[in-house]
Amino acid sequence: MAITATDQEKTGLGNYFIANYPQFSFWNATHLPEAEAALDRSPQPGVPLGLYLHIPFCRKRCKFCYFRVYTDKNARDIETYLDAITKEVELLSQRGCVGGRSLDYVYFGGGTPSYLSASQLDGLMTRLRQIMPWDQAREVTFECEPGTLQKHKLETLRAQGVTRLSLGVENFKAEILQYNGRAHLEEEIYRAFGWARDLGFPQINLDLIAGMVGEDWDNWKRCIAKTIELSPDCVTIYQMELPYNTVFSKELKVLGQDEPGLLIADWPTKRAWVRYAFDELEKAGYEVSSATTVVKSKAKTRFVYREALWRGADMFGTGVASFGHVNGVHIQNVDTWEAYIEKLDRNELPLGRAFPTTPRDRLVREVVLNLKTGHLDLDHFLQKYGIDIRVVFRSALDKLQNEGWLTVGEDAIDTTPDGLMQIDRHLPAFFDPQYISSRYT
Ligand code: SF4
Repeated sequence: MAITATDQEKTGLGNYFIANYPQFSFWNATHLPEAEAALDRSPQPGVPLGLYLHIPFCRKRCKFCYFRVYTDKNARDIETYLDAITKEVELLSQRGCVGGRSLDYVYFGGGTPSYLSASQLDGLMTRLRQIMPWDQAREVTFECEPGTLQKHKLETLRAQGVTRLSLGVENFKAEILQYNGRAHLEEEIYRAFGWARDLGFPQINLDLIAGMVGEDWDNWKRCIAKTIELSPDCVTIYQMELPYNTVFSKELKVLGQDEPGLLIADWPTKRAWVRYAFDELEKAGYEVSSATTVVKSKAKTRFVYREALWRGADMFGTGVASFGHVNGVHIQNVDTWEAYIEKLDRNELPLGRAFPTTPRDRLVREVVLNLKTGHLDLDHFLQKYGIDIRVVFRSALDKLQNEGWLTVGEDAIDTTPDGLMQIDRHLPAFFDPQYISSRYT
């Protein structure tokens, strides 16, 4: 049966957003020797080094979540994991690729890093900082689920040098939070936000999701008004995807509804919600800094993790199933608890699969990821790669310019507002032929 334009705009199963290039489906275990070699090579001059730590625990599983998370681990399991991830950082810190660099950025993601108790966090961070200090880092981000926060936990994070708190709010309405499997309550959002402000965290980000199951225009407008009232430094808005292997994708199949798009807003509606949010936030003084983020001031409210990673920085991705990038090689850890713990027990790095990129891959990756900010500076690419990207990507740029998604200027390429809202669907225009139409994960 032919797929119509209307079908394409329904929210079907699968990942829609592009987070890396070449896609994960091309990474494999046969490239692990290249990963090992990259870890031993000295770094390229001027390339920063970051550290990502995956904390894979959550109070319950959100129905749209496809991350590697566990909701059934006890305190002992958690200690085992924290010992393992500390060991992993220690092993990495001894490799030649560090080359005397101190950490430029650190990111605690998940899962729910704030699921850990204050004393677990204090112990973990103290040990990690002894191995790889982050006192010089430009940014230390920590993701939180509002319902897991207490004031003393936030005090611990502040004392350990966290500079950027990211609060997973997603929505303010109890029924929607509950139906989508979120564990927190609205009052917990206000309480956590108030403590974070009182403690003077330099940057607070608030995450929202446009298009959670049960969402409608009236509630979405209320969510945006409440967000503006809280006045975070940064707001990140994701459009709801329906990846494979989520509770929702399975529930909907069990119900015999092979058209989950009927229950979830279609893409044009989700884009309209994001557009509305951006417009309202801009009226309130925010600036759009990417397809998913607005910030109070582009000059002051930086997101170092994203900027560095999208420009090709090195990053150790630690924890089960984590992704990283070192000396031109993409690396992912093994993706099961057992394999992860076992390898570290044997003092081995838990590497699972890898992909050695070519200079051309790295160029495409940087173009594609940075187009998600809505702006490409031509001079940057000229200085870094010695090329004019208007020439190298002429056919993709002509096509997207003719369709009205971006404009190619003398100094820069800029997306149009409509183009930015749906930039991910246009990025494959820049992919090399061998990487087109592959399943994303
Ligand atoms: S809190 Fe985040 S990581 Fe945990 S289940 Fe929900 S979406 Fe997944």
